[in-house]
Amino acid sequence: MFRVAIVGRPNVGKSSLFNRIIGKRKAIVEDIPGVTRDRVVAKTEWLGVPFEVVDTGGYIEGDEDKFAPYIRKQIEKELDLSDLFIFVVDGKEGLTPTDKDIAKILHKTKKPVLVAVNKIDDPSHEDRIYEFYELGFDKVFPVSSIQKYGVGDLLDEVVKHIPDYEVEAAKEEIKQEKKEKDEVIKVAIVGKPNAGKSSLLNAILGEERAVVSNIPGTTRDVIDTLFEWNGHKFLFLDTAGLRKKSKVDYGIEFFSVGRTLEALKRADVVVHVIDAKEGATEQDTKIAHLIQKYSKPAIIVINKIDTLPQRKEVLNRIKNQVRERLYFLPYAPIVLTSAKQKRGIKQLLQEIVEVYNQAWKRVGTGQLNRALQQILSLRQPPAYRGKPLKIYYATQLEGKPPCFLMFVNYPEGFKEHYVRFLENNLREILGFEKAPIKLIFRGRDRE
Ligand code: GDP
Ligand code: GDP
Repeated sequence: MFRVAIVGRPNVGKSSLFNRIIGKRKAIVEDIPGVTRDRVVAKTEWLGVPFEVVDTGGYIEGDEDKFAPYIRKQIEKELDLSDLFIFVVDGKEGLTPTDKDIAKILHKTKKPVLVAVNKIDDPSHEDRIYEFYELGFDKVFPVSSIQKYGVGDLLDEVVKHIPDYEVEAAKEEIKQEKKEKDEVIKVAIVGKPNAGKSSLLNAILGEERAVVSNIPGTTRDVIDTLFEWNGHKFLFLDTAGLRKKSKVDYGIEFFSVGRTLEALKRADVVVHVIDAKEGATEQDTKIAHLIQKYSKPAIIVINKIDTLPQRKEVLNRIKNQVRERLYFLPYAPIVLTSAKQKRGIKQLLQEIVEVYNQAWKRVGTGQLNRALQQILSLRQPPAYRGKPLKIYYATQLEGKPPCFLMFVNYPEGFKEHYVRFLENNLREILGFEKAPIKLIFRGRDRE
């Protein structure tokens, strides 16, 4: 991407101009005396032309000499990296020896240099720009970062220097980035109060080598948490309450069905947390029905297993109880965890990835129809109104969860029992064990 570096001595208004260009009021500025601010890079666009801007960093007021070598180093580094320079000078203070030093460095490059005479807060002060022609650059612009004055003219000149191939490449880059962002797995953690949702989230976020950041969600009080682990990106949805909870008790209100439902609808994968001490309760059945209703890929977590005797038969018993009670989510894998002892966390993360991948999987029509023939040979569909039910062929539709269109003779003849049989077998043969799949029956004549 075409790179524009904002250079100049301290306090001329580089970061103010940077912020003006990227359209934000404030960049990250470290106000610690004696400490240099790191360079800040942002992508932006002007008149639909994308480019990258770099604020080469600031230095504290006062002792400029001390920082001269540092300034030089910063700018010299940018001579190679950047394609164009905005050389900011201070129109209020006038030309200084340091400006001349910087000009010398910039003259070494064949790349375009635009001089921005900043702090021209009033058009009547425009004549202040003339002394800066002494720096030896043709293009000198009066600007006021604070009054937003002149910045448009400056940017008009910037984009004139950006070649078409750079614009094309940049647009491609932006598209690619968007695509990669789409691969963030959105996860909703649901369950009844006190099942251990907050504890589990904290245990996950505490995983080794994890990178965690807050992302404002769709509505005002929603905070999502972006989490990177093992090369995978997860976005935990509506985690404001879950993450604050360790400090403040928001009570049950915060975890209203409405909130759960919103997160659930947005999720790619739902993690349903159940308290091992209680097993699946009435409330859990209701939550699981929501998961089923929205055909969401899901994982059932039985948390607090540290509270149970650590014996195989005990663990199997609770698993069976949950499986039986939530029989309508046969595809959801069960993971046993202890948020308290941080057990089962890695396995949970792996399952989230696995479930997500299965939910996105596509099978070829050939493979699908071979599987179908195999299943039909196991058990033929029952008769319908005295006639044999027939499945001619099937095809997978776009999107997730996996959805299969079955062309049949009498769609209305396919009842729940046989549909379950088909679903379960398709899942097993085609490797969708952990994904909800959907079957749609259509009469052949309506093709
Ligand atoms: P940097 O060190 O070059 O990045 O400079 P800053 O952007 O931090 O600005 C230094 C000081 O100049 C701050 O106090 C700004 O408020 C002020 N400043 C920046 N731009 C303007 C401007 O256009 N007009 C006036 N009057 N002050 C400005
Ligand atoms: P939430 O309401 O679902 O977010 O549940 P919390 O995470 O606030 O946990 C509710 C209670 O269960 C708290 O007292 C936790 O300390 C406790 N808890 C959570 N996870 C575990 C666990 O794995 N083992 C044990 N023994 N207690 C847990």
